[in-house]
Formats: sequence, structure tokens, C-alpha cells
Amino acid sequence: MPSFFLGQKLFRLLCYCGKYLTLKAGRDMIMKKLYIDIFENEKGVKAFFSTKHGASNGSPYYNAETLSSLGLMDLQPVQPNQVHEAKIGIVGKEKCGIIDEAGKEIMSWGRMEESPVIESWIQGGVAGPGNEEAGNESAIRFPRTDGAITDQPGVLLTTVHADCLPVWFYDEEHHAIGLVHAGWRGTLAGIAPKAVRLMNETYGSNPAKMKAYIGPGISQCCFETGPEVLEAFRSEWDFADEYSETAEEHAAKGRPANEGKCYIDIKGINVRELLQAGLLPENIEVSTHCTCCEPGTFASYRREGGTYMRMGAGICLL
Ligand SMILES: [Zn+2]
Repeated sequence: MPSFFLGQKLFRLLCYCGKYLTLKAGRDMIMKKLYIDIFENEKGVKAFFSTKHGASNGSPYYNAETLSSLGLMDLQPVQPNQVHEAKIGIVGKEKCGIIDEAGKEIMSWGRMEESPVIESWIQGGVAGPGNEEAGNESAIRFPRTDGAITDQPGVLLTTVHADCLPVWFYDEEHHAIGLVHAGWRGTLAGIAPKAVRLMNETYGSNPAKMKAYIGPGISQCCFETGPEVLEAFRSEWDFADEYSETAEEHAAKGRPANEGKCYIDIKGINVRELLQAGLLPENIEVSTHCTCCEPGTFASYRREGGTYMRMGAGICLL
């Protein structure tokens, strides 16, 4: 009998140690994770969002470790220069161009390789470690845009973030992708539904079959604004009030709140805009991560009072 109890005790001790080590390994892995997989279950694309460990000053794409761990060193990167508007670039085999907010083509170039917007990947003297090692010598830089779409394999669409939302798009049927930067101004201007429309016009993408992924980014818990921001949303979107809390409502949830301020759910507004554009609820996924209240995982412009650190969103066709 005593040996049976001893054996049982030893077994419990081993279970406990195993559990502890597994938990610890899991935690260490999360702490050092360079990126989060987006569209994890889709076989035709690779999409990701870097954590602060995979980020770097100005652009995470200077971080060779991130690119090489993703196996994306040989792709042609596309970088919109992100001016908080709603223009979107198109990267096609025979044509590169920019479409304005009204859907009009405002710039057009010939073949991708001949595009005058191809510039050195290393910008403004920022000698990033990633470029030469990663083998990427140039990026297609789109001036005055906040996103891009493509149907070309071998092209890596990118955007950078420090609270503003990334929105990824995937149309499996037409093998086309899109990625936009939707801060509150981009959300106000409806950049996400504009990308849907542009993919529909360019590739014949059916919104009811497209998939979208929203965030990580600043969530309602942390996105405090003045009443003028809510007023701007009200003037563009009649559902705006459904996605805003007063200071009293916010405080009632046990969150710090300042009198006279609004707390806006821009992830929710983007979902609503996409539903209006014809996407189905089951095809829209929203990240629960808030970049502002997860300092261990993300850099945050709001939380840090400004930061040079940027997380990167990326997507490419496989
Ligand atoms: Zn938060």
C-alpha cells in the first residue's frame, strides 16, 4: 500500500512539473513571437501582423528576422506611404496605378518592373539590417495611398501600424488580395468598403464570397476622442452612435473615462461598413487584440505618447 501511494504522489508531482514547464514554454514562446498569423485557415494566402518583437523603427520590414521566419525574403514588397486618406494602389502585371476616393484612376504606369515608383527599399538613409540580407532591393512605393490590391503571386502587400487598424482581404475565387490601413480618418472615409469595390471592379470579386480580417489595433476600451470625431462619423455613417460610448457608459464598464469624451469602436464601424458593402458576417473576422492595452505584445502610439516603432501587416498569394 505505501508504495502505491508513493507512486501516486510521484505521478502527481511529475504531472505538476510537466504542466509548469509546458506553461512556461508557452509563455516564453508568446513573449518572443515575432508575428501573429492572419487567415490561418486559408491555404491560398499567407498573411501576418508583427508583434513588437518583430517590429522595428519605422518599418518592421527592415527586420530580417521577421521576414526570414516568414519565408518571405524573395517577394516584391509594396509599400503605400500612408497619409490617412482613402486612395488605393493597384499592382497588376501589365499595369500599376492609383485609384482615388471616387474610384477614378489618377495615376497609371506600365509594367510593374518599369514603374517609376519602385524605390530603394531602404528609405531616407535608414540603413535597416533586413534588406541586403533578405535579398529585397526595391519596393514599389505608392505615394498618397493607404492600401493596395493585387492578383499577382510574388507580391507582398504591406502596411505599418501603431494603433490604426489593418484590414486584410482575400478572394479565393479570383485569387486576389487587398490590404488597407484604416485609422479613424481612413475608417471615416470608408477605405475598407472602397477596397471591396475596387477588387470587385478590377478582379470581379464577389463581396459575398470575400473574406476580411480586421485588427489588431486600438479598441473601444482605449480609443478616447473628442466629440468632434463622433460628429464627423455621424455625418458620414448613420449608424455611428451605435459604436460610441459616453464617458458615463464607459465608466459603468469599470474603465477609466474622462468627462465629455467619446469612446469609439472603430473595429465595429469597419465591420458595419463591410456588411454594407456586401460581405457576409461569417466572412469577417475581428482581432480581439488591443494594441493600446497589451504593452507586452504591441507598440502603441496612444499609450506611449508617440512612437517610432511600427508593427507590420502583410499579405501575399501563395
Ligand atoms: Zn485597449
